[in-house]
Amino acid sequence: MSKQPKIPLVYPVFNGNEKRYVVDCIDSSWISSNGKYVSHFEEKFAEFCGTKYAISCANGTVALHLALLAYGIGPGDEVIVPTLTYIATANAVTYCGARPVFVDSDPETWNINPECIEEKISDKTKGIIVVHLYGHPVDMDPVTKLAQKYNLFIIEDAAEAHGAEYKGKKTGSIGDIGCFSFFGNKLITTGEGGMVTTNNSKLNEKMKLLRGQGMDPNKRYWFPIVGYNYRLTNIQSAIGLAQLENISFHLSKRREVVNLYYKYFQGLTDLIELPVEKQWARHSFWMFSILLKDGVEFSRDDLMDQLDKDGIETRPLFYPMHILPPYKENAQYPIAENIAFRGLNLPTHALLTEENIKYIVERVGHYCRREIE
Ligand SMILES: *Cc1c(COP(=O)(O)O)cnc(C)c1O
Repeated sequence: MSKQPKIPLVYPVFNGNEKRYVVDCIDSSWISSNGKYVSHFEEKFAEFCGTKYAISCANGTVALHLALLAYGIGPGDEVIVPTLTYIATANAVTYCGARPVFVDSDPETWNINPECIEEKISDKTKGIIVVHLYGHPVDMDPVTKLAQKYNLFIIEDAAEAHGAEYKGKKTGSIGDIGCFSFFGNKLITTGEGGMVTTNNSKLNEKMKLLRGQGMDPNKRYWFPIVGYNYRLTNIQSAIGLAQLENISFHLSKRREVVNLYYKYFQGLTDLIELPVEKQWARHSFWMFSILLKDGVEFSRDDLMDQLDKDGIETRPLFYPMHILPPYKENAQYPIAENIAFRGLNLPTHALLTEENIKYIVERVGHYCRREIE
């Protein structure tokens, strides 16, 4: 097959009111963190998630930090976190002076395995952060049961799962607090940006206070606590609102792309495992990922190098936290390790054509087959 121009892993698409709203910010001089787009974006995002409140913030990492601060997490506390995640999930716990306690993965969804949580709960455990990895929702019912039994909070790291659903409920609306990211490569973006969602009015007030340097909402320049400047700007919110207006386009385009991957990968299932979508789940498919089958004698990294030479950008699955220097442990998390070293993310975005996908699948097949012959 002929070589195609470089195919990026992700590509943000601005085909709505983005430009118009940004120009409006500049023309009106409301460029900072006051202005109508901030509250408008928050209201629309809450409506989208089906929560009472949504609080915008500077990025997804500080969304997680705000959520933990709202619970007063600090030194001596432990928070349960999946080992297979992006490092921000664990780092947010560390920022509080608390300790992330890792849990192994579910072999099918790659998310935190609810069956492995209970053995990790101690007297110090305050809560659980679940991560809807790559857009597949966590099986929330067993997690919720455990949280009730041990009186723990649940924070959903939904940074990769805008619009994903668990049994008909949007991610970010199931636990106590939901955290989202609008980084440039996420399903919808504001460049950098984040959002916290909740139905709890006390948590909402607390997180708003913490986000705005701790300033008393009823008394300007009176600071009852030490807060943070974690605000999102009006310009970023303007982009976010326009992206959100088109979220069904962004979600359905991804699903079209993913359906084509499933179709063309059917002939390669002896070599490759495809991601699942459980019956109770609505996947948002932030990234379509594949696993090289166990026992196949070639390396994932070699495959990625070859694809790169063909102009196809890919990414390895996240390294599990327990093998990274800041969180190194000797404990074993066999499922997470098994998944992480066999997996890669393939290009997943709204501008991919059927031609692109056929080419990507053909190239993957070519290298995999050649290597095992
Ligand atoms: C992207 C991401 C974050 C952090 O979001 P930023 O906006 O980049 O700070 C947190 N958790 C997960 C799972 C992510 O993918």
